[in-house]
Amino acid sequence: MFDAKALKKDFPILDQQVNDEPLIYLDNAATTQKPQQVLDVLNKYYQEDNANVHRGVHTLAERATKDYEAAREKVRAFIHANETAEVLFTRGTTTSLNWLAQSYGMANLKAGDEIVISYMEHHSNIVPWQQVAKATGAKLVYLELTADGQLDMTDAKAKIGPKTKVLSIAHVSNVLGVTNPIKELADLVHQHGGIIIADGAQAVPHMTVDVQSLDVDFYAFSGHKMCGPTGIGVLYGKRQHLEKMEPVEFGGEMIDFVYDQESTWTELPWKFEAGTPNIAGAIALGAAVDYLTEIGMDQIHAYEEELTAYVMPKLQAIDGLTIYGPQSSDDRGAVIAFNLDSVHPHDLATAMDMQGVAVRAGHHCAQPLLRYLDVQSTARASFYFYNTIEEADQFVAAVIAAKEFFE
Ligand code: PLP
Repeated sequence: MFDAKALKKDFPILDQQVNDEPLIYLDNAATTQKPQQVLDVLNKYYQEDNANVHRGVHTLAERATKDYEAAREKVRAFIHANETAEVLFTRGTTTSLNWLAQSYGMANLKAGDEIVISYMEHHSNIVPWQQVAKATGAKLVYLELTADGQLDMTDAKAKIGPKTKVLSIAHVSNVLGVTNPIKELADLVHQHGGIIIADGAQAVPHMTVDVQSLDVDFYAFSGHKMCGPTGIGVLYGKRQHLEKMEPVEFGGEMIDFVYDQESTWTELPWKFEAGTPNIAGAIALGAAVDYLTEIGMDQIHAYEEELTAYVMPKLQAIDGLTIYGPQSSDDRGAVIAFNLDSVHPHDLATAMDMQGVAVRAGHHCAQPLLRYLDVQSTARASFYFYNTIEEADQFVAAVIAAKEFFE
């Protein structure tokens, strides 16, 4: 039996009152909370080991470097990458995708080429490609969605072709909760000689991810959405690509030799990691990986499926409530964007906050998707493994109370 109640106790922040009510934190798609185990590692690093990495021969520097590189190995194993050289530490998904656009995109795209994304992308997987398209003359092509908010594979098969040089797509949507068929898309784009990038910001925290069996060329995700700290994230890339790519930032340990007029770079993965990295963040991300691994990603995924199946019909039973994306819990994860007919989502989120329930309201950094759905903004409840069934009930009760208040 999955014991969400016991796991919740690992998260000190969740043991508090908000507006005189026990906090129910349902904004996990924005960022997740951190367990004591991760906070302890973060603290220990600064209290006992703080030093710059790859530079000193003194004991603290050696310890910091060892722990930083051990964290890279933990991340490698977690996403089943072939080698640590393929695991780059970044500031987060946004930085990972910007690096790809700046480095791979600018070097490999030209007028006549196509960059394919979908209508369900986060701005972080749209705007960097708009910039590449503008600079290179390549065309940005959007994949359509089906009526219930899944990726339209018929459209994908029609649009992905010989002109497609890059397909960059969310693994899991931060609004619709759907999981895209990354392996099938990888096969499709590879047949035509292009590459696939998956935005795993909403996938890695919630399911087992195997970058090799997905056969992705690149994969991006953020530490803070998986119990780790902010300011640390990952870019996975196949060695064959990373070897050929130029770094995006320069200086510090990414250097091999600096001559008067030019310089050479060190080897992977450090070639991309300019300046002093987020050492504490990386080490604490390693602790988050340990924590999640101990619980088990398959167990987390199965529990979140249960929670989704529990809460969806209860929401669907509320008169005037619209859920965006698939209506069947079988087709989606525990991110639920919704609206009440009679209430603006910001008012709804404020009324929920008065009851201690934290949900998000807005466009969720997905303006093209909201236009596609023909809606200005939505409320969004996003669950994680530490949310209990009781909290799901209290959330539904808070929606009903808010509805009654505004009617
Ligand atoms: N992609 C998706 C699908 C997301 O949900 C998010 C964050 O909300 C991002 C990218 C950006 O992540 P970050 O802000 O950590 O860079």
